[in-house]
Amino acid sequence: MFSYQAPSDLLKERVILVTGAGSGIGRTAALTFARHGASVILVGRTISKLESVYDEIEAAGGAKPAIFPVNLESALTNDYDQLAVAIEDTFGRLDGLLHNAGLLGQLTPLEQYDPDSFNRVMQVNVHAEFLMTRALIPLLKQSKDASLVFTSSSVGRKGRAYWGAYSISKFAVEGMMQVLAEELGSAVRVNSLNPGGTRTPMRAKAFPGEDPDSLPTPEDIMPVYLYLMGADSRGISGQTFSAREGSAG
Ligand code: NDP
Repeated sequence: MFSYQAPSDLLKERVILVTGAGSGIGRTAALTFARHGASVILVGRTISKLESVYDEIEAAGGAKPAIFPVNLESALTNDYDQLAVAIEDTFGRLDGLLHNAGLLGQLTPLEQYDPDSFNRVMQVNVHAEFLMTRALIPLLKQSKDASLVFTSSSVGRKGRAYWGAYSISKFAVEGMMQVLAEELGSAVRVNSLNPGGTRTPMRAKAFPGEDPDSLPTPEDIMPVYLYLMGADSRGISGQTFSAREGSAG
């Protein structure tokens, strides 16, 4: 497991947006960032799930979060521009952006892959991330220490049969990370992160026969998320991280 011990105030006064914040890894990341002092912007499509995370942060005495419902499958350029305006009005800047939301799609040979399903996966996992990043770069540039994190997968680093659009989309995410890291230079660090097999609804869908208790929980993999969002990763950009490997030192 990636080894890093985060100070309890690591993310104090940072504003961090998490997509897919209502369930799975995103939910835990939002709660963890808030526990370390961040004001968290909760983005997702199921408002009731976002509200439950909001309530949990408030009950724990965290900084006041914000909810922005966005359906990444249908949102248009203008919706992301409005999101940027709302964040600017509420917080004045953005210090961290965790692209976490993702769609698994079908697990089937590409020859049999349904084209509509392919489009939906690429829309959520790639196009929406581009549109949101494009709209939020100016706000990230207003931060003194901005971090942009893309969520990848082992099948985004080496292709695997039957993983179809999901695998292809994660390769695209790695490409977007590399392009942005070069373009943004020292203004915003940009990295990709492979959580590895983690006990979530998506993993259960991909591996229905697997015993969930054999997998790390989202809590177990949080050290690398904290490292990438906090000041200790300053200056590190264009890199691929894995929650299961490595250390901060
Ligand atoms: P989950 O399926 O548990 O959670 C995915 C999140 O994305 C949910 O909050 C979901 O919202 C949100 N989401 C999906 N579609 C949309 C949409 N159209 N608009 C807005 N939000 C949407 O997945 P995980 O927590 O497991 O995965 C998180 C990330 O980690 C993903 O990028 C995944 O590819 C990656 N990953 C996960 C691994 C694992 O083993 N769990 C392994 C490798 C990578 P809602 O709840 O409302 O549906």
